[in-house]
Parts: sequence; structure tokens; C-alpha cells
Amino acid sequence: MNRSGMSGRERKGLLNEGPKIWEVYNGLECQHRINRGTHRDIKEAIAIARKFAKEVIRPAYLDIDLKCMADHDYLPWEVVKKAGEYRLFSLFVPKFFGGPGLGFLGIYPFAEEISAACPAMGHIVMVHYCGMATLFPSMNARLIRMVLKDVMKSEREGAPRLCTIVVTEPESGTDVQEPLLVQHARPGSSVKRVEGGWVINGKKIFISSGHLSHWHIANFIEDKKNKPESWLQLVVPNGTPGFSFGAREKKMGQLACPASELLFDDCFVPDSMVSVRSQDKEFTASKKGPRWMCHTVVDHVTASTRTGTAAISTGIGRGAYERALEYARKKTVNGELLVNQQWAQMMLTEMYRNVNVSRAAYMESAFTLALSGLFKLMYLKPVDRLQRVLPRWYFRMIIGPFLNLKVATWLLRKYYYHWYTVEERSASSGWGSTCKIECSDTALANCNIALDLMGVDGLRHEYGVEKSFRDIKKQQIYESTNQVNAINLFYCLVARDMPEVEFCK
Ligand SMILES: Cc1cc2nc3c(=O)[nH]c(=O)nc-3n(C[C@H](O)[C@H](O)[C@H](O)COP(=O)(O)OP(=O)(O)OC[C@H]3O[C@@H](n4cnc5c(N)ncnc54)[C@H](O)[C@@H]3O)c2cc1C
Repeated sequence: MNRSGMSGRERKGLLNEGPKIWEVYNGLECQHRINRGTHRDIKEAIAIARKFAKEVIRPAYLDIDLKCMADHDYLPWEVVKKAGEYRLFSLFVPKFFGGPGLGFLGIYPFAEEISAACPAMGHIVMVHYCGMATLFPSMNARLIRMVLKDVMKSEREGAPRLCTIVVTEPESGTDVQEPLLVQHARPGSSVKRVEGGWVINGKKIFISSGHLSHWHIANFIEDKKNKPESWLQLVVPNGTPGFSFGAREKKMGQLACPASELLFDDCFVPDSMVSVRSQDKEFTASKKGPRWMCHTVVDHVTASTRTGTAAISTGIGRGAYERALEYARKKTVNGELLVNQQWAQMMLTEMYRNVNVSRAAYMESAFTLALSGLFKLMYLKPVDRLQRVLPRWYFRMIIGPFLNLKVATWLLRKYYYHWYTVEERSASSGWGSTCKIECSDTALANCNIALDLMGVDGLRHEYGVEKSFRDIKKQQIYESTNQVNAINLFYCLVARDMPEVEFCK
């Protein structure tokens, strides 16, 4: 039935005028493009995170925060061990790599839940997945399988070996993480080709969970004269000769999750541990070329990890709201419960609204990732169904060995680089930035409102709200600052189709 009386061409033309469906209605598109069982994964992820928060985080988080304040060298290994016992580090490892295969769309609500209890302890879990999300875009199936097998084995053995994301250096931060700015970056580290591998010299800083982790997914610029085209990603495990940990930052918030220095002193990394190199012939000789490849790898990483950052921020904003609400239900002011005073009700409602809007923003980004970002292959209906129907042993025994073949990496790279489109990349990267900015700014607003509502009590450690305020500040900075995310968003979704616009001149 043609309800509008429009021709198909007219309808298509109107939908293409913008905002386009693929830009801003991905939640809607997901309703028919992904399998129905997905919602069960999300509910399960939420339930698991709530259990962990209830049984492990809430009873301990304030004490751990105080311990970290008193002793800068304190590392919360007990949190890593406990999270391992709950199998949190392997929960989202796809069945293709031998994991339990809880769907990736659940990872963001999962992050919100644990961060609402304590973002620092939540970060210990989530940074590990950021490390995985840095390795995945290399599409090096053999190395991904090797690292994930070890993650699952070490978790079973009771001493989880976690992953990190390693980019920032003393002389370069946001600029390297943002393809539009990389030309202006001045990375100080050097990587040199030698027989059988690479020698790295330099220092990486602010590496979250560094001292608590084992697998470091380290990214370098190989050729300083051609920065936009020379991305090199190496997998560096602890114990690699020439690799060591340096100092830890003295931070204001998220104290349980250390920000570490990683030192590379004539550190030799064999060719077998190179996950991806843009100057390989595979990319230099390809139609789209190494610049496209570098931009796409970085955007695959940042679109997924910025969405994670946004979910963590939402958790922090929600934590502030929930703590303020709990306080208002007990506190008496002028002989009346605070929660019964209209001005307090207005403030609590504003905080509640902020949390819901934030969640909608990061979920829209997650849906975009499922349709056109890093998760797009996993959410193709037949692929997703295969994962649901077949048992884990089948993937381990039958599919696993196939992933070690070069052809597996070749196929994945075809799908994620060579056949990937600029529209897909712009949508997922643009939404990653949208929610990163929105959720961190909104959560900061919530922390401020909570402090205003609670007055001087808000500054007391035992209420947890001053901690939320300390914890939220980082969210505006890392995964590229909100200002640099705005530059990316302008490029991806505001003005990409405007020929007169110049970017980052
Ligand atoms: C606690 C913490 C944990 C971290 N964890 C990790 C980690 O696990 N792995 C990792 O690799 N890195 C990590 N980082 C580093 C983080 O990603 C960088 O700090 C962040 O990207 C900002 O880079 P920068 O510090 O060099 O700031 P800069 O890039 O120097 O920015 C400084 C200021 O200049 C502004 N600015 C920069 N360029 C522009 C521009 N072109 N136009 C307008 N304004 C601009 C920025 O918005 C900012 O206000 C972490 C940082 C912190 C604080």
C-alpha cells in the first residue's frame, strides 16, 4: 500500500536529504538488520555486571580508593583476581576465538553498570576490552587468537593476563589518535627495521592499567616524514627484552586504575608479533592505499573505545545521581526529608534525565558499530546465528585452526578495509565522538548537581560523590579530548560532504 502517494524515487530523495538514515537512525535500522536474540545478550551482560558490582565492587570501592590515596604504589591485584573469577575478562571474547561469545552490544551497558558502582574498578575490566578493541582492527586473525587464548587460559588459572591500549607519548597525545591531526604530531619514539623484526626505543605514558596488564597493544609511527601513512602496531607481552614499566601518574580520580609509563629500550619485537603495518605491500599496492588503511584502523579503534568511554561516563553520572537520591531520602532539612522538597526533586529529575539521554546516546553509537563499525561482521544475521547455534568446542576445534591461516586475515582485511566505505566509517566514528563528548559533559553536570544538592556533606568521602567528581574529569580528556572529538565529528558528520570546507588546515 502506498500511504503517501509518493513515488519510490521521491521517497528516496527525501530520505537522502539529511539527516540520513545511516547517519542518525541506526537504532531503528538495527530492528530488522540484527537478530532478535541480541536483547537477551544485553540483559545477561547487565545482570552479570550488577552481580559483580553488588558482591565485589560496592563493599570495597571506598576502602580501595583510600588505600590508593595513602599509598601511591598500591596496585589492586585483588580486583583483577576477583574479576577473573567472575570470568569478566573473557565474557565478550567471540566464539570464533573460542570465547563465551556474549554479544558486543552488551559490553556498553555492562560498562555503565560496573562504572555506576566504581569507574576505577570498572576501568580495570574495560581497559582490557579497549586493548582487545585495539588489536581487533588489525584484523590479524592469528595474533588475535593467540592473545585471546592466553587471556582465557590465564583467567582460568586464576592470574588473568590483561590487555592495554598503548598510543600516548610525552610529546604526542590527541594528535596521534586523530587521523586529521596526525600530520602535526611529533612522536618521540622510534621503530627501526632489523633482521627478523623491529627495535623500539621510546616511552609511552598514561597507559591505563599498564602495571596490571600483560599484553600491550603498542602503536607507533614508523616514518616521521609520512605520518598519516605509516601506522605500525605491535603486540608486546611482559618479559619482552628491553621492555619495562616506569613510573605511575599521580592522579586525582579513578585511583584504582593506574596510568603507567611503558619504557622501550632497544626492545626487540619479532615480525611474528607485528599485528599490522600500513607500509606492507598489501596496503601500499591496494586501491585505497595506506592512508585509508591508517585512518580506518584508528577509527575502528576509537569509534568502539569512545563508545565505551561514553558508557563509563554514563555510569559515573548515574552513580552520582543514585548516591544523591539515596542521601536525599534520608537527610532531613528544616524538619522535612530533603527528597520531599520541590527544589531537590527538580535537581534529582534533571540528573535522572541526564542519565537516560546519555544512555540513549551511547546505545545509538553501539547500534551504529553493529551496522557499520567494528562489530558489523559479528552482527550479520548468518554469522550471529552461527555463533548462537554452534557450541564453543566446534569453534575451538574446527574454526580456530583456520584463523591461523593467512587467508583468514586476508578475508577480514578485505571486509574491514578494502570493501569498507567512507559512509560507514563516518557514521561509526562520528557517533563515537558524539557520545564521548555528550556523556562525559553530561556526567560532569550530574556530579556538580549532586554536590550542590548535598552541600558540605557532598565533600565527605563516605558518600562517594566527591569521588564521582574526581573520577569524571578524566572522561573528558582521554580517548582524545572532547575538543578534538568535536573536530572529528565536524569532519565525519557535519561537513564531510561540503566541498568548500577545509579540515585542520
Ligand atoms: C588517566 C588517563 C588515562 C589514559 N589512558 C591512556 C591509555 O590507556 N592509552 C593511551 O594511549 N593513552 C591514554 N591516555 C592519554 C590520553 O588519551 C591523552 O591524554 C589524550 O588523548 C589527550 O592528549 P594530550 O594529553 O597529549 O593532550 P593534548 O593533545 O596536548 O591536548 C591539550 C589541550 O589542547 C587541546 N587541543 C589539542 N589539539 C587541538 C586542536 N587541533 N584544536 C583545538 N584544541 C586542541 C585539547 O583539547 C586539550 O585541551 C590517558 C590519559 C589519562 C589522563
